[in-house]
Amino acid sequence: MHLSSWIDIDPESDFSLYNLPYGIFSSASRSPRVGMAIGSFIIDLAAASKIGLFEDFEIPNEVFYRDSLNDFIELGVEKHAVVRKVVQRELAGQDSTLREYQTLLVRQQNATMHLPVRISDFTDFYSSLEHATNVGRIFRDPEEPLLPNWKHMPVAYHGKASSVVVSGTPVHRPRGQIQKSPGANPSFKETSQLDFELEMGYIIGKSNPLGQPVSVNQADSHVFGMVLLNDWSARDIQKWEYVPLGPFLGKNFSTSVSPWVVPMEALVPFRVDGPPQDPEVLPYLRSSGEQNLDINLEVALKPGQGSEEVICQSNPKDLYWNISQKIAHHTINGCNLRIGDLLGTGTISGSASTSYGSMLELTHAGAKPMVLADGGKRRFLEDFDTITMRAHGQKGNVRVGFGELSGEVLPAIELD
Ligand code: MN
Repeated sequence: MHLSSWIDIDPESDFSLYNLPYGIFSSASRSPRVGMAIGSFIIDLAAASKIGLFEDFEIPNEVFYRDSLNDFIELGVEKHAVVRKVVQRELAGQDSTLREYQTLLVRQQNATMHLPVRISDFTDFYSSLEHATNVGRIFRDPEEPLLPNWKHMPVAYHGKASSVVVSGTPVHRPRGQIQKSPGANPSFKETSQLDFELEMGYIIGKSNPLGQPVSVNQADSHVFGMVLLNDWSARDIQKWEYVPLGPFLGKNFSTSVSPWVVPMEALVPFRVDGPPQDPEVLPYLRSSGEQNLDINLEVALKPGQGSEEVICQSNPKDLYWNISQKIAHHTINGCNLRIGDLLGTGTISGSASTSYGSMLELTHAGAKPMVLADGGKRRFLEDFDTITMRAHGQKGNVRVGFGELSGEVLPAIELD
């Protein structure tokens, strides 16, 4: 199947006719509302709904005039499929209402993007075997980097939803307790080990009632879509605080997500089998079918005064634990996931040293500094560095991408 449109879409665009991701945008003349990206444009779905584009399908206009996607997500998967199909037909067909009313299209360069979802809860997993092994070596034990539970369950911690921000939001260097060497008393200071984590995030699209687990075979239907995610981390703060209850202030100062939520339907062409799991997992975690995604990921670093360069290329296709297993495990005790919950994959590292998804791994915790094209060295991130993440799947001429997730490091905020 090859789709083409009367809109001129660059073949390299992340936002092809196969993608149609949802986001919240505003412009000089438009309040925040639901939009859909196509090529270098945004379709104003609120205005499109108002002129009757979806009137045959009992989709209320109001859901598109919200400053989050939550009410739209709440409509359910059949309505989402209708909206997607109508817009796809409108963009491909010659006899098109959208074409007639071109005021429904806004140039992305003239729009401001907002956090797409009102995030209720944020859970971050730890599902890359390579990442868990690398971090285990650095933080704990070079001989036995994996803890005994790791291959039996998708390990996770509860993050903080309130500090999830949209791409473009800068992050101030946090302060905290830092222990200089083992046995020493901690001091209070700025982190000198600020890091990024290359992750993808799942947006939950269907709630489960408290007490009712979601089975591994039903889990797919509980996901609305995906974003890129940068789990900013302060490694020195994390290292001192994380035993025994896990990450806290080393992580919760900021987490960034990309503004466009790519629907799961658009990612079907990129589904692949995950790696074999050995030892065999418990029955409630046994999933079937192509549960992983073949997506090209990259991270670029731009120093304040320099030019951007790619410092990592990775892919989530080899993640040990898949999303169905994560949802089944998260809810197996009756815990309820809600519409708008965000589930992070955890840092996505591959086996090649250029595929490590954090500075911690790329520089071996600072022991092997990275040399940038301008001659600058990095152990961790410096003030005014900008980290940009990009992701796209490509199969034949079908390209589906996530756009950019970008954030600049700013100096620590002055304290009184
Ligand atoms: Mn993380």
